[in-house]
Amino acid sequence: MTCSNCKQAISTADTKCPHCNYTITRHLKINYPKASLGKRFAAAVIDYLLLSVPIFLYTFGYTIDRARILNNEEQLAADYNSLIYITSALYFIYYLLHDAILKDKSIGKYAMGLRVVNIKNNQRISLIDSVKRNGILAIAAVIPYVNSLYVIAEVIFILMSPKGQRIADSLLHYQVVETDQLSMIIETYEIEDF
Ligand SMILES: [Zn+2]
Repeated sequence: MTCSNCKQAISTADTKCPHCNYTITRHLKINYPKASLGKRFAAAVIDYLLLSVPIFLYTFGYTIDRARILNNEEQLAADYNSLIYITSALYFIYYLLHDAILKDKSIGKYAMGLRVVNIKNNQRISLIDSVKRNGILAIAAVIPYVNSLYVIAEVIFILMSPKGQRIADSLLHYQVVETDQLSMIIETYEIEDF
């Protein structure tokens, strides 16, 4: 362990640096194990279906209903377009908030035993964290051409990341963890001075 002020070696028990008298503040750095990518994929599929199935059924029923009474293909196409705008907006909002629906996890993550941790302060993520974590991808998803490139970059990034972090997770210090591993990781922490 070294002093963050003068970079000289200090003991882990020091509260003040013996060389420069700098006050040492300690931070618990927990080494969270990487969560199963299979469980994360399953959680993402569940979260997607939870919104998609009702929207699909509604759209399907609506289209049949309108076609029966309207007999006007142009009006039906216009109706259908506005329905796409509304559902896209719903997806956008849902995606931003979904990781905080059940406190620090989405319904899919709850079903797969996952949650999201802020690894900078070891706290559960909040609603604001969910918006920040998912905001970058949500914005990229609505920009033509950028969306497909971003998804490819994201997949490569997750596969390369030793912690399975997404681009936003790496930038903002979040990590998806398996709930049943949380009790044992407390033994693997190290203390970092900064
Ligand atoms: Zn020092």
